Amino acid sequence: MEASRVKEISTSMIRRMFEVVESAKKKGIDIISLSIGEPDFDTDSRIIEFACKAKKEGYTHYTSNFGLDELREAIAERYGVEKEEVMITTGGSEALLNASLAFIERNSEVLIPSPNFLSYFVYSKLCEAKTVQVKTHPEFRLNVEEISKALSEKTSVVFLNYPNNPTGVVEDEKTLKEVVELAQERKAIVISDEIYDQIYYDKKPVNLVDFENVVVVNGFSKSLAMTGWRIGFTIADKKLIDSMLKVHQVNGVCAPAFAQKAVAEAFFSGIFDEVTENMRKVFKERRDYVYKELKRIGFEAVKPEGAFYIFAKIPEQFENCMQFVEKLVMHGVALTPGIPFGEGNEKYVRISYACSMESLKKAVERIEKFMDEYR
Ligand code: PLP
Repeated sequence: MEASRVKEISTSMIRRMFEVVESAKKKGIDIISLSIGEPDFDTDSRIIEFACKAKKEGYTHYTSNFGLDELREAIAERYGVEKEEVMITTGGSEALLNASLAFIERNSEVLIPSPNFLSYFVYSKLCEAKTVQVKTHPEFRLNVEEISKALSEKTSVVFLNYPNNPTGVVEDEKTLKEVVELAQERKAIVISDEIYDQIYYDKKPVNLVDFENVVVVNGFSKSLAMTGWRIGFTIADKKLIDSMLKVHQVNGVCAPAFAQKAVAEAFFSGIFDEVTENMRKVFKERRDYVYKELKRIGFEAVKPEGAFYIFAKIPEQFENCMQFVEKLVMHGVALTPGIPFGEGNEKYVRISYACSMESLKKAVERIEKFMDEYR
Protein backbone atom coordinates (compact mmCIF):
# COMPACT_ATOMS: atom_id res chain seq x y z
CA MET A 1 0.00 0.00 0.00
CA GLU A 2 1.27 3.42 -0.91
CA ALA A 3 1.88 5.57 2.15
CA SER A 4 -0.45 8.52 2.55
CA ARG A 5 2.43 11.02 2.44
CA VAL A 6 3.04 10.24 -1.23
CA LYS A 7 -0.61 9.83 -2.26
CA GLU A 8 -1.06 13.46 -3.18
CA ILE A 9 2.19 13.67 -5.13
CA SER A 10 1.42 13.58 -8.80
CA THR A 11 3.63 12.49 -11.67
CA SER A 12 0.80 12.96 -14.17
CA MET A 13 2.22 16.18 -15.66
CA ILE A 14 5.59 14.55 -16.44
CA ARG A 15 3.79 11.57 -17.98
CA ARG A 16 1.44 13.81 -19.97
CA MET A 17 4.35 15.84 -21.37
CA PHE A 18 6.20 12.66 -22.28
CA GLU A 19 3.12 11.36 -24.14
CA VAL A 20 2.61 14.68 -25.93
CA VAL A 21 6.20 14.76 -27.19
CA GLU A 22 6.23 11.04 -28.08
CA SER A 23 3.01 11.27 -30.08
CA ALA A 24 4.38 14.28 -32.04
CA LYS A 25 7.58 12.33 -32.75
CA LYS A 26 5.56 9.36 -33.98
CA LYS A 27 3.91 11.69 -36.48
CA GLY A 28 7.39 12.45 -37.79
CA ILE A 29 7.64 15.95 -36.31
CA ASP A 30 11.16 17.17 -35.62
CA ILE A 31 11.08 18.69 -32.13
CA ILE A 32 13.36 21.28 -30.57
CA SER A 33 13.16 20.92 -26.81
CA LEU A 34 13.21 24.17 -24.85
CA SER A 35 12.18 22.28 -21.73
CA ILE A 36 15.68 21.34 -20.61
CA GLY A 37 16.71 21.97 -17.00
CA GLU A 38 20.46 21.59 -17.34
CA PRO A 39 23.27 23.41 -19.15
CA ASP A 40 23.81 22.05 -22.66
CA PHE A 41 27.59 22.19 -22.10
CA ASP A 42 29.58 19.06 -21.29
CA THR A 43 31.63 18.99 -18.11
CA ASP A 44 35.04 20.60 -18.77
CA SER A 45 37.46 17.87 -19.94
CA ARG A 46 40.04 18.91 -17.34
CA ILE A 47 37.54 18.18 -14.56
CA ILE A 48 36.92 14.76 -16.11
CA GLU A 49 40.70 14.19 -16.07
CA PHE A 50 40.84 15.19 -12.38
CA ALA A 51 38.12 12.62 -11.65
CA CYS A 52 39.93 9.84 -13.56
CA LYS A 53 43.14 10.61 -11.70
CA ALA A 54 41.29 10.65 -8.38
CA LYS A 55 39.80 7.22 -9.07
CA LYS A 56 43.25 5.81 -9.79
CA GLU A 57 44.54 7.38 -6.59
CA GLY A 58 41.92 5.53 -4.55
CA TYR A 59 39.10 8.08 -4.23
CA THR A 60 36.66 5.22 -4.62
CA HIS A 61 35.56 4.83 -1.00
CA TYR A 62 33.16 6.61 1.32
CA THR A 63 34.29 10.05 2.42
CA SER A 64 33.29 11.57 5.74
CA ASN A 65 29.55 12.34 5.86
CA PHE A 66 30.48 16.02 5.81
CA GLY A 67 32.47 15.57 2.61
CA LEU A 68 36.13 15.86 1.62
CA ASP A 69 37.97 18.42 3.69
CA GLU A 70 39.63 20.09 0.72
CA LEU A 71 36.30 20.67 -1.03
CA ARG A 72 34.65 21.97 2.13
CA GLU A 73 37.61 24.33 2.63
CA ALA A 74 37.44 25.61 -0.96
CA ILE A 75 33.70 26.29 -0.61
CA ALA A 76 34.14 27.87 2.83
CA GLU A 77 36.80 30.22 1.47
CA ARG A 78 34.70 31.26 -1.51
CA TYR A 79 31.60 32.03 0.57
CA GLY A 80 33.43 33.47 3.59
CA VAL A 81 32.23 30.88 6.10
CA GLU A 82 33.87 28.25 8.31
CA LYS A 83 34.57 24.77 6.96
CA GLU A 84 32.34 23.33 9.72
CA GLU A 85 29.40 25.24 8.25
CA VAL A 86 29.69 23.36 4.94
CA MET A 87 28.37 19.88 4.23
CA ILE A 88 28.73 18.19 0.84
CA THR A 89 25.62 16.37 -0.43
CA THR A 90 24.56 14.16 -3.31
CA GLY A 91 23.44 17.03 -5.51
CA GLY A 92 21.36 20.03 -4.54
CA SER A 93 18.28 17.81 -4.39
CA GLU A 94 19.65 15.74 -1.52
CA ALA A 95 20.45 18.92 0.38
CA LEU A 96 16.87 20.14 -0.18
CA LEU A 97 15.37 16.89 1.10
CA ASN A 98 17.73 16.83 4.11
CA ALA A 99 16.76 20.38 5.01
CA SER A 100 13.05 19.67 4.47
CA LEU A 101 13.04 16.55 6.66
CA ALA A 102 15.13 18.31 9.30
CA PHE A 103 13.05 21.51 9.58
CA ILE A 104 9.52 21.02 8.24
CA GLU A 105 7.36 19.91 11.16
CA ARG A 106 4.33 17.72 10.38
CA ASN A 107 1.16 19.87 10.08
CA SER A 108 3.21 23.06 10.07
CA GLU A 109 3.02 25.62 7.25
CA VAL A 110 5.57 25.87 4.45
CA LEU A 111 5.66 29.17 2.62
CA ILE A 112 6.51 29.01 -1.07
CA PRO A 113 6.37 32.08 -3.32
CA SER A 114 4.82 31.16 -6.68
CA PRO A 115 6.08 30.51 -9.30
CA ASN A 116 8.87 28.35 -7.94
CA PHE A 117 10.90 25.18 -8.50
CA LEU A 118 8.35 22.37 -8.46
CA SER A 119 10.27 20.12 -6.03
CA TYR A 120 9.53 22.46 -3.07
CA PHE A 121 5.83 21.59 -3.29
CA VAL A 122 6.74 17.90 -3.19
CA TYR A 123 9.01 18.31 -0.14
CA SER A 124 6.21 20.07 1.69
CA LYS A 125 3.84 17.16 0.94
CA LEU A 126 6.42 14.52 1.86
CA CYS A 127 6.81 16.22 5.23
CA GLU A 128 3.01 16.26 5.68
CA ALA A 129 2.87 20.03 6.00
CA LYS A 130 0.44 22.60 4.65
CA THR A 131 1.78 24.58 1.70
CA VAL A 132 1.04 28.31 1.76
CA GLN A 133 1.68 29.99 -1.57
CA VAL A 134 2.25 33.69 -2.14
CA LYS A 135 1.81 34.73 -5.74
CA THR A 136 4.47 37.07 -7.11
CA HIS A 137 2.87 37.83 -10.50
CA PRO A 138 3.29 39.69 -12.78
CA GLU A 139 6.80 40.93 -11.92
CA PHE A 140 7.75 37.80 -9.93
CA ARG A 141 9.21 39.92 -7.12
CA LEU A 142 8.63 39.32 -3.41
CA ASN A 143 6.25 41.67 -1.68
CA VAL A 144 7.49 41.83 1.91
CA GLU A 145 4.09 42.88 3.25
CA GLU A 146 2.37 39.91 1.62
CA ILE A 147 5.05 37.55 2.88
CA SER A 148 4.61 38.99 6.37
CA LYS A 149 0.85 38.35 6.20
CA ALA A 150 1.37 34.79 4.96
CA LEU A 151 3.83 33.94 7.73
CA SER A 152 2.35 32.66 10.98
CA GLU A 153 3.52 31.02 14.16
CA LYS A 154 2.82 27.75 12.35
CA THR A 155 5.37 28.48 9.59
CA SER A 156 8.32 26.12 9.86
CA VAL A 157 10.07 26.77 6.54
CA VAL A 158 10.18 29.40 3.80
CA PHE A 159 11.62 28.40 0.43
CA LEU A 160 13.49 31.03 -1.56
CA ASN A 161 15.21 30.50 -4.91
CA TYR A 162 17.20 33.26 -6.59
CA PRO A 163 18.18 33.31 -9.41
CA ASN A 164 14.77 31.73 -9.82
CA ASN A 165 13.62 28.68 -11.72
CA PRO A 166 11.34 29.26 -13.70
CA THR A 167 11.39 33.09 -13.92
CA GLY A 168 15.11 33.97 -13.99
CA VAL A 169 14.43 36.78 -11.50
CA VAL A 170 17.24 37.79 -9.10
CA GLU A 171 15.68 39.32 -5.98
CA ASP A 172 17.47 42.26 -4.35
CA GLU A 173 19.41 42.05 -1.11
CA LYS A 174 17.22 44.38 0.95
CA THR A 175 14.03 42.42 0.22
CA LEU A 176 15.67 39.07 0.90
CA LYS A 177 17.08 40.25 4.21
CA GLU A 178 13.70 41.59 5.27
CA VAL A 179 12.08 38.25 4.48
CA VAL A 180 14.78 36.36 6.41
CA GLU A 181 14.30 38.66 9.41
CA LEU A 182 10.52 38.23 9.31
CA ALA A 183 10.99 34.46 9.21
CA GLN A 184 13.37 34.67 12.14
CA GLU A 185 10.78 36.58 14.18
CA ARG A 186 8.40 33.64 13.54
CA LYS A 187 11.20 31.15 14.36
CA ALA A 188 11.05 29.78 10.82
CA ILE A 189 13.96 28.42 8.79
CA VAL A 190 14.61 29.84 5.33
CA ILE A 191 15.85 27.32 2.78
CA SER A 192 17.65 29.49 0.24
CA ASP A 193 18.25 27.49 -2.93
CA GLU A 194 21.12 29.29 -4.63
CA ILE A 195 21.95 26.62 -7.21
CA TYR A 196 21.96 29.20 -10.04
CA ASP A 197 24.15 31.73 -8.20
CA GLN A 198 26.89 31.57 -10.87
CA ILE A 199 24.49 32.11 -13.77
CA TYR A 200 23.57 35.80 -13.73
CA TYR A 201 23.68 38.62 -16.26
CA ASP A 202 23.09 42.03 -14.75
CA LYS A 203 23.53 41.99 -10.98
CA LYS A 204 25.29 39.42 -8.85
CA PRO A 205 22.84 37.37 -6.77
CA VAL A 206 23.05 37.61 -2.97
CA ASN A 207 24.22 34.60 -0.99
CA LEU A 208 22.32 34.42 2.32
CA VAL A 209 25.14 32.67 4.18
CA ASP A 210 25.30 35.00 7.18
CA PHE A 211 21.97 34.27 8.84
CA GLU A 212 21.37 31.93 11.77
CA ASN A 213 18.02 30.76 10.41
CA VAL A 214 19.07 30.22 6.79
CA VAL A 215 20.09 26.96 5.16
CA VAL A 216 21.80 27.71 1.86
CA VAL A 217 21.54 24.96 -0.75
CA ASN A 218 23.89 24.97 -3.70
CA GLY A 219 25.88 22.62 -5.91
CA PHE A 220 27.82 22.15 -9.12
CA SER A 221 25.12 20.67 -11.36
CA LYS A 222 24.48 24.00 -13.05
CA SER A 223 27.63 26.05 -12.38
CA LEU A 224 30.04 23.43 -13.73
CA ALA A 225 27.57 21.57 -15.98
CA MET A 226 27.87 18.49 -13.76
CA THR A 227 24.27 17.34 -13.34
CA GLY A 228 25.21 13.67 -13.61
CA TRP A 229 28.00 13.85 -11.02
CA ARG A 230 25.70 14.56 -8.07
CA ILE A 231 27.70 17.06 -6.06
CA GLY A 232 25.80 19.61 -4.01
CA PHE A 233 26.42 21.38 -0.73
CA THR A 234 24.71 23.07 2.19
CA ILE A 235 25.97 26.09 4.10
CA ALA A 236 24.36 26.70 7.47
CA ASP A 237 25.00 27.36 11.12
CA LYS A 238 26.71 24.36 12.77
CA LYS A 239 23.59 23.58 14.81
CA LEU A 240 21.49 23.39 11.65
CA ILE A 241 24.17 21.29 9.92
CA ASP A 242 23.94 18.82 12.84
CA SER A 243 20.17 18.50 12.35
CA MET A 244 20.60 17.89 8.61
CA LEU A 245 23.38 15.37 9.26
CA LYS A 246 20.80 13.17 11.01
CA VAL A 247 19.06 12.80 7.65
CA HIS A 248 22.13 12.91 5.40
CA GLN A 249 23.83 10.02 7.26
CA VAL A 250 21.03 7.72 6.08
CA ASN A 251 20.11 9.50 2.85
CA GLY A 252 22.99 10.59 0.61
CA VAL A 253 25.63 9.31 3.11
CA CYS A 254 28.36 10.99 1.06
CA ALA A 255 28.72 12.30 -2.47
CA PRO A 256 30.96 10.28 -4.86
CA ALA A 257 34.54 10.65 -3.58
CA PHE A 258 36.27 11.07 -6.96
CA ALA A 259 33.70 13.65 -8.04
CA GLN A 260 34.25 15.65 -4.84
CA LYS A 261 38.00 15.53 -5.43
CA ALA A 262 37.58 16.67 -9.05
CA VAL A 263 35.51 19.70 -8.00
CA ALA A 264 38.07 20.59 -5.31
CA GLU A 265 40.76 20.52 -8.00
CA ALA A 266 38.58 22.71 -10.23
CA PHE A 267 38.65 25.34 -7.48
CA PHE A 268 42.41 25.07 -6.82
CA SER A 269 43.34 25.27 -10.50
CA GLY A 270 41.13 28.28 -11.27
CA ILE A 271 38.98 26.24 -13.68
CA PHE A 272 35.84 26.99 -11.66
CA ASP A 273 36.01 30.72 -12.43
CA GLU A 274 36.96 30.14 -16.05
CA VAL A 275 34.04 27.75 -16.69
CA THR A 276 31.44 29.88 -14.94
CA GLU A 277 32.60 33.08 -16.65
CA ASN A 278 32.38 31.43 -20.04
CA MET A 279 28.94 30.03 -19.31
CA ARG A 280 27.64 33.45 -18.24
CA LYS A 281 28.85 34.95 -21.51
CA VAL A 282 27.18 32.29 -23.66
CA PHE A 283 23.90 32.32 -21.71
CA LYS A 284 23.75 36.12 -21.73
CA GLU A 285 23.88 36.20 -25.50
CA ARG A 286 21.04 33.66 -25.64
CA ARG A 287 19.03 35.46 -22.96
CA ASP A 288 19.26 38.71 -24.93
CA TYR A 289 18.24 36.97 -28.13
CA VAL A 290 15.30 34.98 -26.75
CA TYR A 291 13.91 37.89 -24.72
CA LYS A 292 14.11 40.29 -27.66
CA GLU A 293 12.51 37.82 -30.06
CA LEU A 294 9.69 36.79 -27.72
CA LYS A 295 8.82 40.45 -27.13
CA ARG A 296 8.89 41.11 -30.86
CA ILE A 297 6.54 38.18 -31.51
CA GLY A 298 4.19 39.61 -28.90
CA PHE A 299 4.76 37.66 -25.69
CA GLU A 300 4.62 39.26 -22.26
CA ALA A 301 7.67 38.25 -20.26
CA VAL A 302 9.93 39.55 -17.48
CA LYS A 303 13.55 39.87 -18.60
CA PRO A 304 15.52 37.12 -16.82
CA GLU A 305 18.49 38.29 -14.76
CA GLY A 306 19.84 34.81 -14.05
CA ALA A 307 19.45 31.04 -14.55
CA PHE A 308 18.55 29.99 -18.12
CA TYR A 309 14.78 30.21 -18.19
CA ILE A 310 12.20 32.75 -19.26
CA PHE A 311 8.62 32.51 -17.96
CA ALA A 312 6.35 33.86 -20.67
CA LYS A 313 2.65 34.57 -20.61
CA ILE A 314 0.69 32.75 -23.30
CA PRO A 315 -1.51 34.82 -25.64
CA GLU A 316 -5.15 35.46 -24.63
CA GLN A 317 -6.64 33.23 -27.34
CA PHE A 318 -5.33 30.09 -25.63
CA GLU A 319 -7.31 28.53 -22.79
CA ASN A 320 -4.34 27.50 -20.69
CA CYS A 321 -0.68 26.50 -20.87
CA MET A 322 -1.41 22.80 -21.53
CA GLN A 323 -3.44 23.65 -24.61
CA PHE A 324 -0.69 26.02 -25.80
CA VAL A 325 2.11 23.50 -25.19
CA GLU A 326 0.24 20.62 -26.84
CA LYS A 327 -0.50 22.66 -29.95
CA LEU A 328 3.02 24.10 -30.17
CA VAL A 329 4.61 20.63 -29.99
CA MET A 330 2.86 19.83 -33.25
CA HIS A 331 4.78 22.78 -34.72
CA GLY A 332 8.10 21.37 -33.50
CA VAL A 333 8.85 23.14 -30.18
CA ALA A 334 8.51 21.59 -26.71
CA LEU A 335 8.07 23.92 -23.70
CA THR A 336 7.28 23.29 -20.03
CA PRO A 337 3.74 24.24 -18.92
CA GLY A 338 3.51 26.68 -16.00
CA ILE A 339 1.09 24.67 -13.83
CA PRO A 340 3.64 22.57 -11.84
CA PHE A 341 5.43 25.76 -10.71
CA GLY A 342 2.61 26.70 -8.35
CA GLU A 343 -0.62 28.69 -8.16
CA GLY A 344 -1.45 31.32 -10.74
CA ASN A 345 0.73 29.89 -13.50
CA GLU A 346 -1.96 28.38 -15.73
CA LYS A 347 -1.33 31.02 -18.38
CA TYR A 348 2.48 30.74 -18.42
CA VAL A 349 5.10 28.54 -20.01
CA ARG A 350 8.77 28.06 -19.12
CA ILE A 351 11.20 28.41 -21.97
CA SER A 352 14.71 27.11 -21.36
CA TYR A 353 17.53 28.60 -23.43
CA ALA A 354 19.99 25.88 -22.45
CA CYS A 355 20.45 24.87 -26.06
CA SER A 356 22.48 26.07 -29.03
CA MET A 357 21.86 29.44 -30.69
CA GLU A 358 21.11 27.55 -33.89
CA SER A 359 18.30 25.58 -32.18
CA LEU A 360 17.01 28.74 -30.53
CA LYS A 361 16.79 30.53 -33.86
CA LYS A 362 14.91 27.61 -35.40
CA ALA A 363 12.60 27.43 -32.38
CA VAL A 364 11.85 31.17 -32.57
CA GLU A 365 10.97 30.81 -36.27
CA ARG A 366 8.60 27.94 -35.49
CA ILE A 367 6.97 29.78 -32.57
CA GLU A 368 6.42 32.85 -34.75
CA LYS A 369 4.84 30.78 -37.52
CA PHE A 370 2.62 29.03 -34.96
CA MET A 371 1.51 32.35 -33.50
CA ASP A 372 0.75 33.75 -36.95
CA GLU A 373 -1.61 30.83 -37.54
CA TYR A 374 -3.51 31.55 -34.33
CA ARG A 375 -3.69 35.33 -34.56
N1 PLP B 1 17.16 23.66 -7.29
C1 PLP B 1 16.70 24.19 -8.43
C2 PLP B 1 16.07 25.53 -8.39
C3 PLP B 1 16.81 23.49 -9.64
O1 PLP B 1 16.35 24.03 -10.76
C4 PLP B 1 17.39 22.20 -9.62
C5 PLP B 1 17.48 21.40 -10.86
O2 PLP B 1 16.86 21.66 -11.86
C6 PLP B 1 17.86 21.69 -8.41
C7 PLP B 1 17.73 22.45 -7.27
C8 PLP B 1 18.46 20.31 -8.32
O3 PLP B 1 19.82 20.31 -8.55
P1 PLP B 1 20.68 18.97 -8.50
O4 PLP B 1 20.76 18.42 -9.87
O5 PLP B 1 22.03 19.41 -7.99
O6 PLP B 1 20.03 18.04 -7.56
